[in-house]
Amino acid sequence: MYQLQMLIDGERVASRSGKASIIRNPANQESVAEFSLGSREDAHLALEAAKRAFPIWSEMSSQKRCEILHKASAVVRERSDHIARLLTLEQGKPLKNARMEVMASAGVLDYYAEEGLRNFGQWITSGHSRSIVIKQPIGVAALITPWNFPVDLLAWKVGPALAAGCTLVAKPPSLAPLAATEFIQAVNDSGLPSGAVNVVHGPGSEVGAELVENPISRKIAFTGETETGRWIMAHAAAHIKRISLELGGQSPFIVCRDADLDKAVAASVQRAFSNMGQICISINRLFVAKEIAEEFTAKFVERTRRLKIGDGMEPDVDLGPMFSESQRCKTKEHVDDALKRGAQLLYGGCEPEGESYQKGFFYVPTVLSEVDQSMKVMREETFGPVAPIIRFESLDQAIAMANDSEYGLAAYIFTNDLSTAIYASEHLEAGGIGVNVNNVVDLQAPFGGWKQSGFGRELGHYGLESYLETKHIRIGV
Ligand code: NDP
Repeated sequence: MYQLQMLIDGERVASRSGKASIIRNPANQESVAEFSLGSREDAHLALEAAKRAFPIWSEMSSQKRCEILHKASAVVRERSDHIARLLTLEQGKPLKNARMEVMASAGVLDYYAEEGLRNFGQWITSGHSRSIVIKQPIGVAALITPWNFPVDLLAWKVGPALAAGCTLVAKPPSLAPLAATEFIQAVNDSGLPSGAVNVVHGPGSEVGAELVENPISRKIAFTGETETGRWIMAHAAAHIKRISLELGGQSPFIVCRDADLDKAVAASVQRAFSNMGQICISINRLFVAKEIAEEFTAKFVERTRRLKIGDGMEPDVDLGPMFSESQRCKTKEHVDDALKRGAQLLYGGCEPEGESYQKGFFYVPTVLSEVDQSMKVMREETFGPVAPIIRFESLDQAIAMANDSEYGLAAYIFTNDLSTAIYASEHLEAGGIGVNVNNVVDLQAPFGGWKQSGFGRELGHYGLESYLETKHIRIGV
């Protein structure tokens, strides 16, 4: 069985306690790997290592850091097949998607290799003084990430942290630490000083908590559930740490009467069900103009029916299993709640039949109509493959229903009218708006949430800024 250790101070090490745990494949529950299970003590050692490496890394020229980050990207690409296979085995997603995720992560490193060169300051002439504004790395960063995109969401943090001159300790999700650890190992093997990047495994309540509470970490970059983010925010307050929180989502998708219907159907089926709906910017609530609702819904169901479900290692699979039994249970619970309250089941709502599905956490993508705002599928983050469709009479009504959520990560609208697109973009409460697209992620643009979807921005120059402190130097003349 594959053995996975932690990475502390440039060395692969077992946990101090000697404890280990098993990773199982969500497609069949077979054991995939055994990994070292760390504790607070291991997290502390990793923070110490990152602290020792900080003066070396932060004082290196940004040109040299750029070179090393490009090398890191090249090593990730070289090892991408191995990392992607581990990702599919531990997380369940189809291998083609795992490969895309790993290659995207390499792209993030290349992007921040260059963005690190654009860490500019300011020169201000002011009467009898001159002011210089410079940006300096915050210090040791703790990076805490979830299981749905364990490599890419880590790369979003590793790239800007290293480009800014910070050193780091990563804490991957306990149930999917394999690909993330191998990604960090690849970065480590690219010429970084020992201890600049570290990985500690172990429970969030212990290892994650130590990373948040220990005064060595100056910045916490977190992606995960809103509830965990709330805990982190409260505990980071003790040392007034810099934090960025990428939390839950409940994204609306508005289809106007004038939209290109086929494009809207293709885009929404893909974004509702990809990764089994376990994406923070998944489409969770569909608002369709009443004049086209019947046709849209029929086409949506038809396209959903064509999705192929199976073990992510099989070729041509569109959807793998859900990540865990608890995710599948939550999805079932939300669907049952909707049906009890009067929703109509148009497709799915069950597990697929057949021998090959018996041992995995499979679930058929589900389409509901006759839903209302009181149902859990409309109010809470299902984080599963469920698409509730609701009709609207006017654009203002659709926007009001879309905004009636405690989350504000992404919102989408399909329309061919420019004024409608601008009006909706300005009135939807979300950090990212997709107009005639089903994805608000662009490496060069800011990504992050409003309301309880968090704060702080990743990607683009904003991502780099979030690992930098601002300093004003005033010189008398
Ligand atoms: P969790 O919040 O449960 O876990 C995320 C990470 O935090 C894990 O590494 C976890 O460790 C760790 N953690 C748990 N408790 C603590 C703690 N007290 N202190 C420090 N760290 C802790 O999220 P999930 O892994 O379940 O991920 C799914 C969630 O992530 C969804 O809500 C989804 O919307 C959100 N998400 C948000 C995104 C965004 O960009 N806004 C993108 C992707 C997902 P362990 O695994 O050991 O529990």
